[in-house]
Parts: sequence; structure tokens; C-alpha cells
Amino acid sequence: MSRIVFLNGSFLPPEEAKVPIMDRGFLFSDGVYEGVGVIDGRLVDNEAHLERLERSLREIRIDNPYSRSEWTRLEQELVRRNGMTEGFLYLQVTRGVAERDFFFPQGVAPTVTMFTQAKAIADTPAARDGIAVVTVPDRRWERRDIKSISLLAQVLAKQEAREKGAQEAWMVEDGYVTEGGSSSAFIVTKAGSIVVRPLSNAILPGITRQSLLRLSREDGIVLEERRFTVEEAYDAAEAFLTSASNFVVPIVSIDGRRIGDGKPGPITKRLRELYLQMAREPAVAAE
Ligand code: PMP
Repeated sequence: MSRIVFLNGSFLPPEEAKVPIMDRGFLFSDGVYEGVGVIDGRLVDNEAHLERLERSLREIRIDNPYSRSEWTRLEQELVRRNGMTEGFLYLQVTRGVAERDFFFPQGVAPTVTMFTQAKAIADTPAARDGIAVVTVPDRRWERRDIKSISLLAQVLAKQEAREKGAQEAWMVEDGYVTEGGSSSAFIVTKAGSIVVRPLSNAILPGITRQSLLRLSREDGIVLEERRFTVEEAYDAAEAFLTSASNFVVPIVSIDGRRIGDGKPGPITKRLRELYLQMAREPAVAAE
């Protein structure tokens, strides 16, 4: 099946989906995005992703081009046209095309793009064996709660992680972990409670994080919503990350130090199972 992408109301082959060089996303990173996981051909937690999209657009004062039901219909149509059963749906809204000038242009329609990326999520080596992370300084702007397409700091952070043999970067500010380059960061204490940074402008409100917190509460796991330092993470019993495109992934080393016994821990494994179950449960998916 050949790939189909979405551009401003049309479903097109990628080579026909062209955006002018004056697009403000291209010139200023003036736009926001969402990434939604797909499993068994269904969008996972899509309502929550669309709610976050609405908030991101409001915060940067771009009118939402579609209602929630229109977005859902277009997303589902794209997944269907690509025959994707497992992977990731990316959607982006920019302020549109205008002569380069910092001020908001008047009467310009936003540019809307979407594409899918087929990939394994449920059964991957990272999920089975865990991954390594390295810490890097958090060099981002102050409004990390907005899902901005300006990702240069994360591109550099994640590339640095890769060059050091790790799969994710944990960004650090004032000695405390903020979050991963493209994921939320968690540790599990030796007493068995989960520690995660509370929501603020310092981090993206992860949708997978939100669902995971609900599932842990329902499962009776003790939750501590507070900041944690890099040293506390080194000494944790377990560590893991969450994201829409990976669900729950165990972390077995941080800066080359082994976490716990260097294997995915029992609480991480349990949470991954609970999340997978939830994602596969049609009643809570987007259809
Ligand atoms: N933090 C950052 C900086 C991210 O880029 C992402 C993934 N987009 C996340 C956290 C995880 O959020 P979600 O669970 O909504 O994918």
C-alpha cells in the first residue's frame, strides 16, 4: 500500500504534498503539533491529544481549523488509507503562509499537515530489555507546556544521547530532571512508589503520563508527584519513560550507571502491561 499524507483538507501522495517556503512553521517554528499512538488500527488516548492540541493552539493564538469530531474523522481516515495497524500519527498546525514578518499575518489560514509512521510499539527490544539514557542540560524556552514544533534543543539533546550510546536524553535543570527529549521521565523508589515531576511550564503535559498516573492509582501504586534529582535517579530501584509512540519503556542505565539490577523492574513491567491493556481496550480508544 503506498503512503498517503494529509495537507490542508486533501489526502495526497507525499511527493504531491508541498508547503510554500514562506510557511511560518518553516521560517519561525510558528506552530504546534501532536503525536498519537496507534495500536490494532486504533488511535490511543486521542481525545486527550486533541484536548492538548486545542490548548497549544489557544496558547499561541492560532484558530483551531477543525472541531474535535472533524479531527478524529480525518485522523482515522489517514490511518485507514495507510492501512496502519501499529505506529504513530503526527499532526501539525502552523500559522500559515505569509511574507516573512514577525507580527501575526491577518486573514491567513493555518497550514495543517498529518502523516503516519508504521512502527512496532507493543513488542520491541527496548520494551523487553530496557534502554540507556544520558543526562544533558535542559536548554529549552520557558513554555515547555506548549507542544511547539520548535524542537532544536531536543534534536541536539537526543543526538548527543545517541553519540554516547544511549537511546534517550534526560534533560536537567537546577539539578532536577525535567523530562526526556521526547518522553516523560519516571523513577521508582526502593519503597516501591512512583516519582514524577508535577505539571508546570517546565514540562510537556504528557498524555501517556496522564493515563499512566490514572492506571497506577487504580492499581494501588503509591504516587509521589514531585521533582527528583539526577542523584536520586541514579539510586532509584527502577526508572522508565512514557510517550505516545513508545508507551512505557524501562530504563536500565543512566549516565552509564546501572539502575536497580540492570534489568526492567517489576513495577515498570506491570505498568507497561496495564497501559497496553488499556490501549487495546476498544471502549477507551477513539473509535
Ligand atoms: N515530553 C516531551 C518533551 C515530548 O516531546 C513528549 C512526546 N511528544 C512527551 C513528553 C510525552 O508526551 P506524550 O505521552 O503525550 O507523547
